[in-house]
Amino acid sequence: MTSEWRGAAGLSHRGSRCAWQESNLRPRAPEARALSPELQARGNGSVATVSQPTRRRARPLRARPDSLRQSTGVDVSARIIALELAETFTIARGSQDTADVVEVEIRHDGVSGFGEAAPIDRYDESGASALGYVESVGADLGDDPFALEDVMRRLPHEQFAARSAIDAALHDLCGKLAGEPVWRFLGLGRLGPPTSWTIGLAAPDEMATKAHASGRFRRLKLKLGGGDGLDVDRVRAVREVTEVPLQADVNEYWSLEEALDALPRLAELGVEYCEQPLRAGDPDGQKLKAAAAIPVYVDEDCHTLADIAACAPIAHGVNIKLAKSGGIGEAVRMAHAARALGLGVMLGCMVESTLGIAAGAAMASLCDHVDLDGNLLLRHDPWPGVELVDGVQLPSDSPGLGVQAVPDPR
Ligand SMILES: [Mg+2]
Repeated sequence: MTSEWRGAAGLSHRGSRCAWQESNLRPRAPEARALSPELQARGNGSVATVSQPTRRRARPLRARPDSLRQSTGVDVSARIIALELAETFTIARGSQDTADVVEVEIRHDGVSGFGEAAPIDRYDESGASALGYVESVGADLGDDPFALEDVMRRLPHEQFAARSAIDAALHDLCGKLAGEPVWRFLGLGRLGPPTSWTIGLAAPDEMATKAHASGRFRRLKLKLGGGDGLDVDRVRAVREVTEVPLQADVNEYWSLEEALDALPRLAELGVEYCEQPLRAGDPDGQKLKAAAAIPVYVDEDCHTLADIAACAPIAHGVNIKLAKSGGIGEAVRMAHAARALGLGVMLGCMVESTLGIAAGAAMASLCDHVDLDGNLLLRHDPWPGVELVDGVQLPSDSPGLGVQAVPDPR
């Protein structure tokens, strides 16, 4: 992993006194340490590592009200990390070798919560815009990290990856303060469905080779939308080397005619459902749902709770991602709303470290399908802590998100 401080901002909020400390572009590592003794910028300048205490906070739940009354405010810092993929990842929209994520630390009462999310350029977000958002809203976080709903409601509803990183950091912080893992703090179970393993868009034989080597996973997600008439051949090639359940993701690159031609053939090959075959907002969505041979799930059509109702006429299910929803709280609301409308619920992710994946894994038990493999695509994961157990991305049972930063071994 290579990483670079492209900006950092710290907010100190003590009662009526707020003060920003800001530095841009390769700020001095000691500033990070000044904000948080647990933050360490290490190495030769090309590697920055964030470490966090591993101790289980022994504070009993009944002490929580006292901690609120004795609130000492929050400090916020953020940075952009460039995660390096183990190999080039290709979908219909393009290829990537690195992924920028925004990493947020929120510190309260001597405890740090961390969160991460990947800005999505499809929605005009970038590392810079996400960082700018965190800097601009830091003063609005208040002094009560347990007021999750109030905090997220009053922050501007834009820059959803940045919102998600803030939301995750608050959940991590509150879990640590309460001494409970986030999934339990949410009142959810620890065990969710097995994750799919994504095979990037490539020639049919290359996708088959990768599928053949994917033995750790109990289901595969095939990226389609090659625009070369070979999408069904891609699925057929993979089916010839594996019997695990398959799902497809076209990332908006089929027309209605292409979808109506391909979906019955995908059904014959055992593909269980197809993600976002048409462009977001395509007026043919209802026609496709009515005629589709296999369930259609929407991803690019579905961002927040406000989108769920409009997805019901055009899809059989929705793909919820924290980077789109703006955090765990909104994602949980989306899952319940989708169920109320008879929609299936899928939980997806971006290319992100386990710090980001851990937030998704905390609510995975609410979902029918899980696609949380972004951290497994990385050359080096700076925040391990979610364990792949029998194909399931199992969240930690340590307080908060339960992840811990580790140095790059290189
Ligand atoms: Mg998708």
